Amino acid sequence: MRTGVGYDSHRFDETRPLVLGGVAIPDAPGLKGHSDGDAVAHAITDAVLGAAGLGDIGVLFPDTDPAYAGADSIELLASAVRRLRDGGFRVVNVDATVIAERPRISPHAEAMRERLGEALGTGAAGVSIKGKSNEGMGWIGRGEGLAAIAVATVTPAAGDGA
Ligand code: MG
Repeated sequence: MRTGVGYDSHRFDETRPLVLGGVAIPDAPGLKGHSDGDAVAHAITDAVLGAAGLGDIGVLFPDTDPAYAGADSIELLASAVRRLRDGGFRVVNVDATVIAERPRISPHAEAMRERLGEALGTGAAGVSIKGKSNEGMGWIGRGEGLAAIAVATVTPAAGDGA
């Protein structure tokens, strides 16, 4: 069993639609970024890659590469999980926290778990999504952007008796 941690933050960009955990969230500003700016998917991708010792999202999907402009971050996550499988691992579970003053996460958490669980190969049961405000403090408190942190556990794929 191995564990990895991932962190990401993105600045709000009112001109873009908001996508978090693969779910479109209306009535909240989007996130600046080379891809769709999905900080939740990015933090989870880094957690999964870190657990398997496979580098990080910036190495696999450089933001200088036009191929990833506006990329669907769920696709990037699924691609990272495929590399993990090629490396002989499977994802056991992921736990993530979104730190943001807005949007509220709880109304969207189930949809995110479904979407992320599909990409991770764990199903929704293997994904936990929680939201926290920053109590009005600092750049998150001022509403400049949001952050996400994630922990992933992976295990050798041969460990399931396959
Ligand atoms: Mg990012």
